[in-house]
Amino acid sequence: MSTHPVTFFSPGENADEVERTNLLDLDREGLRAFFVELGEKPFRAEQVMKWVYHYGVTDFDEMTNISRPLRERLSEIAEIRAPQVLNCQDSADGTRKWLFAIGGGNSIECVFIPDEDRNTLCISTQVGCALDCSFCATARAGFNRNLTVSEIVGQIWMANRSLLRDHPQGERGVSNVVLMGMGEPLLNMKAVVPALKLMIDDMAFALSKRHVTVSTSGVVPKMDRLHEAVDVSLAVSLHAPNDTLRDELVPLNKSHPLDELMAACWRWLADGNRKKHIMFEYVMLDGVNDRPEHAHELVSLLGNMPAKVNLIPFNPFEGSGYRRSSEEAIQRFAKILRDRGVFAIARRTRGDDIDAACGQLAGEVEDRSKRWRKFAEPRFGERA
Ligand code: SF4
Repeated sequence: MSTHPVTFFSPGENADEVERTNLLDLDREGLRAFFVELGEKPFRAEQVMKWVYHYGVTDFDEMTNISRPLRERLSEIAEIRAPQVLNCQDSADGTRKWLFAIGGGNSIECVFIPDEDRNTLCISTQVGCALDCSFCATARAGFNRNLTVSEIVGQIWMANRSLLRDHPQGERGVSNVVLMGMGEPLLNMKAVVPALKLMIDDMAFALSKRHVTVSTSGVVPKMDRLHEAVDVSLAVSLHAPNDTLRDELVPLNKSHPLDELMAACWRWLADGNRKKHIMFEYVMLDGVNDRPEHAHELVSLLGNMPAKVNLIPFNPFEGSGYRRSSEEAIQRFAKILRDRGVFAIARRTRGDDIDAACGQLAGEVEDRSKRWRKFAEPRFGERA
């Protein structure tokens, strides 16, 4: 593992006091409206996007196919500003984690996970999380606020900059994005939807819609809204095969129990143009949700739904009260699923030496939820 402070340029850092429009906050539609309001042709949006997203240019002066007067005007009223990188850590397995400052004493994390056939970036959508999943380090950090569009896409933008700096041939750029870091994406639809549009826009990050995945813990009404707004892939943080256990692990389940959640999944799948399966995330907690009877229940719950189940070894953090399932228990669970026709992946954990593994992201959160009070006393007792 290596840690290195990052000193590369954070655009807009020295901007004067004038309130400028951060162009990273606007998707293509928003940027076109911005230029129309300036009395310009809408196609200026595509010109600027190409400079910003394809060439990483942040200085309007360098945008040479734009007239000088417009460049000067943009310098006065606009900026291109991604969150500032505070720190960057490299894991022994190639995983890299960034810590971004986003003001008010808060910071967020995002993680790059290189693989043979893909380079995945796991990004955050909120400062902390308003939900309270019992096995999640982010939940313990509390909640401060939603991220803006520029703070969401800025993670990808800065990651690409950093990766291309280290690998100038470009073979290490981000190919896949999962909204699976800090926060519940569907509780920040206002910023997440335009950010997703930028991810799959040819003039911006140009990612395949099949390579952009929104992970939700089951905010059912927003699943339908997302379905209408943008075509990307869906993952559901399931973690339990029945309501009793899921109420404990994912308290949101009390508002949107499994029958509602599964119905929403079927509605998502009903559109034939979409990806033909849903990924279900299932964190493996020793003695809690990893028994054979849980596997059989899960098979029944999924029924004939086109689904993949991702079995994630729990990544312990201080005071979690849970332990990771044994490899034997994970393999036994996976075998039951596979024997009954459910596609199951038993994922190896990545980046746990730098606390970058799934469920370990915490950043620095000025907690406004006062959730920390709950953890001042032992909560679950240690599970033996
Ligand atoms: S698992 Fe996701 S939804 Fe649940 S508390 Fe953690 S970040 Fe929030």
